[in-house]
Amino acid sequence: QVVTRFAPSPTGALHIGGARTALFNWLYARGRGGKFLLRIEDTDKARSTDENTQAILDGLTWLGLDWDGEPTSQAAQAARHVEVAQEMLANGHAYKCFATQDEIEAFREEARANKTSTLYRSPWRDVADADHPDLPFVVRVKAPREGATTLHDEVQGDVTWQNEQLDDMILLRSDGSPVYMLAVVVDDHDMGVTHVIRGDDHLANAFRQNLIYDAMGWDKPTLAHIPLIFGPDGKKLSKRHGATGAAEYQAMGYPAAGMRNYLTRLGWSHGDDEFFSDAQAREWFDLGGIGKSPARFDTKKLENICGQHIAVSDNAALLHELEAFLAATQQNALTSQQHDGLLKAMESLKERAKTFPELIDKAQFVLTSRPIEITEKAAKSLDDVHKGILKELTPQLQTVSWARDELEGIVAALAEAHDTKLGKLAGPLRAVLAGRHVSPSVFDMMLVLGRDETIARIEDATG
Ligand code: GLU
Repeated sequence: QVVTRFAPSPTGALHIGGARTALFNWLYARGRGGKFLLRIEDTDKARSTDENTQAILDGLTWLGLDWDGEPTSQAAQAARHVEVAQEMLANGHAYKCFATQDEIEAFREEARANKTSTLYRSPWRDVADADHPDLPFVVRVKAPREGATTLHDEVQGDVTWQNEQLDDMILLRSDGSPVYMLAVVVDDHDMGVTHVIRGDDHLANAFRQNLIYDAMGWDKPTLAHIPLIFGPDGKKLSKRHGATGAAEYQAMGYPAAGMRNYLTRLGWSHGDDEFFSDAQAREWFDLGGIGKSPARFDTKKLENICGQHIAVSDNAALLHELEAFLAATQQNALTSQQHDGLLKAMESLKERAKTFPELIDKAQFVLTSRPIEITEKAAKSLDDVHKGILKELTPQLQTVSWARDELEGIVAALAEAHDTKLGKLAGPLRAVLAGRHVSPSVFDMMLVLGRDETIARIEDATG
């Protein structure tokens, strides 16, 4: 069974890059009937906060990336990490190093002077069973110094490191606490992780972590190190490029399905497919489709894909998500009247909105109530002549059957009777129905508002 994991450090909120890493792990597991686990890597006590952990969980929840079981805490497993280091000590794959900071510094200085490698070479490595009960020590791994190590990565291919570039990294600090690199390996092993999919900034770590797998004789997970995300200028995505936090995208009102689709395409491809459903993504997603070069974040593409997702959404589901957006951004909840109006309007509204704020903006005509305010700009088209023409419309609206063709017919006939064009009546009608000079089409609005409300708005404005 496939087991993947997302292992964020709660030293910040959920970044777009982290969200994509989580998404890839989620897709890979969900497409294979596997498990997707969540591990909070909270060993850096000074920088890890509960608020950040909560923000990460909230971000994943918003994106619909559900994890299996409870999230685990890496720090809580410290005793187990120590136990593994002890086992490595016992089987000779690690050793106690009693070197002092001064000695290590002296070694480095000399290396710099001689222009040799500054990787620390501890003299304690070859001292069998060294023990000095009164002296502080660290536990170091015994890394091979000759030959080379090749790791296969599903994205990067075969990657080779010369072993002389590996140092005897510390496993346990002098206070006995385990280091992060050890914790990751032990946790991945204990959680049964079969596939490690993460940012390629961790590729070098894989070689160090590999030493622990070898020492313990553990099965190694399949590796997939994905390239980082760049901004439009080809540099690592950062605040300079705009929003980088998942929560910021949520607050801007991008629908989660569109965000998922876009992030899936960010660094992974399936032919020319840009727009797809979750089911398709789960079915298609594979490690082979992950590109070797960094993808560039493109807001236009994101918006385009979000617009397409909004357009194909089920009306009720979309309204539900919009209400969640209002709640998440601390905006007023909809009244039941607004809710019903929006549901009626959704079919036409969703055609052209890329975000929830855009949808709300287009929906303004159903969200306001009588007497509606008419903006100065809209009022310009509503002079006395046009008010008079609109007044003639109301008796006809009382009896016409409330269908688009019929409505268009009577407005067109009215325009003709006054020697003008239908387009010339749209402005004034728009003003009285929506109070604005831009809105959905007047016939869409009339159909949504219904006979009584339409007539009432015309009467309100034409006196
Ligand atoms: N905690 C690491 C990070 O947030 C991830 C480590 C891993 O995936 O192995 O970058």
